[in-house]
Amino acid sequence: MTTGIVWFRQDLRLTDNPALSAACRQCDHLLCIFIDDPAERTVSQLGSASRAWLHHSLASLQISLQQKGGDLLFAQGKSLSVLENLIDSSGATRIFWNRCYDPDTIKRDKLIKSTLHALEPQTFNGLLVLEPWENLKGDGTAYRVYTPYWRAAARQLDDEPQRLKIARAPRVLSTPKALTGQSLRGCVTLQQLQLLPTEQWHDAMMANWKVGESAARLQLDRFLKRAVDDYGTGRNLPAIAGTSQLSPHLHYGEISPRQVLHRLLRGRALSQLTGGEETFAKEIVWREFAYSLIYHFPHTIDKPLDERFRAFKWASGTAQHLKAWQQGRTGVPIVDAGMRELYATGWMHNRVRMIVASYLIKNLLIRWQSGERWFRDTLVDADIASNAMGWQWTAGSGADAAPFFRVFNPVLQGEKFDQQGAYVKRWVPELVSVAPKFIHKPWELPAHERDLIDYPAPLVDLKQTRLRALDAFSAIKGTK
Ligand SMILES: Cc1cc2nc3c(=O)[nH]c(=O)nc-3n(C[C@H](O)[C@H](O)[C@H](O)COP(=O)(O)OP(=O)(O)OC[C@H]3O[C@@H](n4cnc5c(N)ncnc54)[C@H](O)[C@@H]3O)c2cc1C
Repeated sequence: MTTGIVWFRQDLRLTDNPALSAACRQCDHLLCIFIDDPAERTVSQLGSASRAWLHHSLASLQISLQQKGGDLLFAQGKSLSVLENLIDSSGATRIFWNRCYDPDTIKRDKLIKSTLHALEPQTFNGLLVLEPWENLKGDGTAYRVYTPYWRAAARQLDDEPQRLKIARAPRVLSTPKALTGQSLRGCVTLQQLQLLPTEQWHDAMMANWKVGESAARLQLDRFLKRAVDDYGTGRNLPAIAGTSQLSPHLHYGEISPRQVLHRLLRGRALSQLTGGEETFAKEIVWREFAYSLIYHFPHTIDKPLDERFRAFKWASGTAQHLKAWQQGRTGVPIVDAGMRELYATGWMHNRVRMIVASYLIKNLLIRWQSGERWFRDTLVDADIASNAMGWQWTAGSGADAAPFFRVFNPVLQGEKFDQQGAYVKRWVPELVSVAPKFIHKPWELPAHERDLIDYPAPLVDLKQTRLRALDAFSAIKGTK
C-alpha cells in the first residue's frame, strides 16, 4: 500500500490539479494537507482580507475532498517540520505539490525538496498556463514588454493545444481512518489556524462573495454568457459588472487559468479570438506576465525595476494624507469611491485601481510601496506578482510601465468612465444628490449647494501636485 502526501498551496481545487491527479495515479492512500506558516513570507502571509478568503476556500476544499472519501488536514508551523512529522507519523513514501513562483516560496521549496529527497518530491504546474521559463525571448532572456510576451504566448498555445488540456477531478479518494484529522501529530482544525481576523468586519466583506471551486466555475460561466462580448468597453466602466471578478478565485487556484482559457476557447485557437474574447484572454496572460516578472526580477516585489527611481524624492510627513487615502476621505470622489469599495468588498475595479494608485503616487507623492502594502492587506485577490506589477506600472518604475509623466486626472477619468456618477454615488452616498456635471468635482458646485454636502474639500490641488510630481521626475530623468 503506497501512501502519498498532497501539499495544497495556491491550488485549492480538485479539477485540473496535476499534483492531485499524479498522487491519485500513484498512491493507494492520500494525505492532503494545507500548512499555514506564519514565519515564512509565502502565500498565507498575505493580508487580512486575503486570509479571510483563504479560510472559506479551505473549508470548501475540505468538504469537496470529504465528499470523495478523502479529507484535508491543517497544520501550523514551519512547512518542512510539519511535512517531516507527517511523513514520520503516516509512513508516507511520496509527496506531490504544484509550484509557486515568488522568491520566498521558491527558496523554501528548494530546501524542502532537497531535505526530503528520499521521497523524490514531484512538483507540477498548477498555477499558470506557461511557467516563467517557458516563454522567453529568442536570446533566452525574460520579456520586459507585454505585447511581444503576449504574441509569443499565444503562438505557443496555438501550436501546443495540449497545454490547455484539463485533468478531471478524481472520482474517489482514499484516506485510511487512522490517518485522518487531528489524530496525526501536529494537525489542527481549520478554526485553529485562525485565518479569520478577530474583528467582525470580514463577515460583511465576505457576504459579497461565493468562495470555492464550484463558485469559481459558476462565476466564469456567468461572465462568459453575459459579459465577455462587451468586455472591451465594459471592463472600463466601474459602475457595471463588466469584468469576470475571477481574481481571488485565480489567486487561490480555485480555478486555473488553463480552465479559463479552455472554456473561453471552446476548441478555437487564441489567434481566432476577436473583440471582448481576445481582450479577456490578454488579461489572463497579463497575470502570467506578472509571474514571469517576479520570477526573473524578484527584487521588483518591493523595489523599482527602473533603478532611477531609487533616488526619487517622495514627499515627507505624509501620514495624514496616507490615512485619508486609505479611508476614502481625499475629497476626490472617484478616488474615495474606489477606496471605500475596496474596504467594504475586498475588491476594486481595475480602472479605479489605476486611478487611486496614480493619485497616491503622483498627487500625494507617496511611495508606491505604501499603497502596495495597503492593497496587500485589504484585497481578497492580493497577489504578490500582480500587485507589485500594478503598482510599478502606475508609478512608471516597472516593466512596460506607463510613462511617469502620464498622470491620471481623476476628474477626467471619472467623467469618461463613470459619466453619470453611478459608481461614485454607490460608494460615496454623501454625493447622491449632486448632478452629473459636478459629481467628479464637487468643489466647483455653487457655494450654497456645496455647503449642504458633508463631504471633505480636496486634500491637495490636483494641478499643482501634478506639476510637483513632474518636477520630481525631471530630477531623476537623466540619471542612471
Ligand atoms: C495598482 C494595482 C494593483 C493590483 N493588484 C492586484 C492584485 O493584488 N491581485 C490581482 O489579481 N490583480 C491585481 N491587479 C490587476 C487587476 O486590477 C485585477 O486583476 C482585476 O481588477 C481583477 O478583477 P477581475 O477578476 O474582474 O478582472 P478581469 O478584467 O475579469 O480579468 C480576468 C483576470 O485576468 C487577470 N488580470 C486582469 N487584469 C490584470 C492586470 N492588470 N494584471 C495582472 N492580471 C490581470 C486577473 O487574474 C483577472 O482575474 C492590480 C492592478 C493595479 C493597477
